[in-house]
Amino acid sequence: MKNAPFKFIQTKQQSQVEPQADFRDLEATELYCPKCGRAVPVRKFLLLVLPEGDKYEYRCQFCGTKVGDKTDRSGQFYGILRG
Ligand SMILES: [Zn+2]
Repeated sequence: MKNAPFKFIQTKQQSQVEPQADFRDLEATELYCPKCGRAVPVRKFLLLVLPEGDKYEYRCQFCGTKVGDKTDRSGQFYGILRG
């Protein structure tokens, strides 16, 4: 018997707030992408759900570079979950 080496254990903290597949709003947002060197359509990813708001990240649709983020303080996310 030998001790197992380090195991990567991922704690599941977001069991309750797993976004459903449909939780995705399409916004016609364009931001400047430094890699593409122009304004590009972006995708919005939900990063974190915080008490003070939901944190989103915007990424270039072409190359995936992060081009911005924002914290949405409206609390819509909770509203949707609770009906
Ligand atoms: Zn890009």
